[in-house]
Amino acid sequence: MKHVETVAELRAEVAATRMAGLPVRFVPTMGALHEAHAALVRAARADGGFVVVSIYVNPAQFGPTEDFARYPRTPDADSALAMAAGADLLWSARDDEMYPAGESTRLRTGALGDILCGAFRPGHFDGVATVVAKLLAATGADTLYLGEKDFQQTIIVRRMISDLLLPVQLVVVPTVRDTDGLALSSRNRYLSADERPVALAIPHALDAAAAAADAGHDTRDALTALRAVLDAEPRLHVQYAEIRDSATLAVRERLAPGARAFVAAHVGTTRLIDNRLLRP
Ligand code: AMP
Repeated sequence: MKHVETVAELRAEVAATRMAGLPVRFVPTMGALHEAHAALVRAARADGGFVVVSIYVNPAQFGPTEDFARYPRTPDADSALAMAAGADLLWSARDDEMYPAGESTRLRTGALGDILCGAFRPGHFDGVATVVAKLLAATGADTLYLGEKDFQQTIIVRRMISDLLLPVQLVVVPTVRDTDGLALSSRNRYLSADERPVALAIPHALDAAAAAADAGHDTRDALTALRAVLDAEPRLHVQYAEIRDSATLAVRERLAPGARAFVAAHVGTTRLIDNRLLRP
């Protein structure tokens, strides 16, 4: 595995790959890599071609009071994990290239970026869409791999790809969970030993919603089950617990195919999100 920093170096590597006729498979990350990132890299590897992993903690997607400064940065471990999972090229993007002096062009995600996480993180998805567009422009990727855990992000990026006519295919990789059910996240390392069981109310609530969905027909029953488990954990501070359509993120009265439960909550100062498909 090669490791580059500049866009020029990245493009030189990708150009050599193209000469060899290989498609470019791309996994963007913010580093602090864990087993879920490895699953994305392995999915890319399994599709064949040249696998590029980027690491960039994107300042544009953090709000002024969020954890940008303390976001975990573990470059040596990241490099080892990316290589073990099968990456061909690791790109540690640089601030001065991603947001060069005088930059003034940003994407706006509109209504899709204003709901769920967007309602609590104003501008977050504008920052996500902007950086993903830049990363795709730099890599020239044919295939982009994103995780289902950040489901709203997959919908927004899919829309951005379509709106900007980008020649890239999106692959969504299923959520990877720890043995206790908690979705893997770089932010899980912030959780103290006594906060971890509190966080588990999130996957438990999603399980309860799925069970209610299996038994009933309307969204209200599943929402009641979802919120009951969350409300039973006083140390969990819920931002939202909602059921929406997987394709459009619209709220639905009836539990139609594609209905999905979404949760965001704080445990102490750590913000966690998760989601689960209720009706395949
Ligand atoms: P991040 O480094 O947190 O920005 O995540 C990079 C990519 O990994 C994104 O596409 C995430 O959706 C994905 N990802 C993070 N955690 C998980 C998980 N537990 N399961 C599946 N994908 C994940």
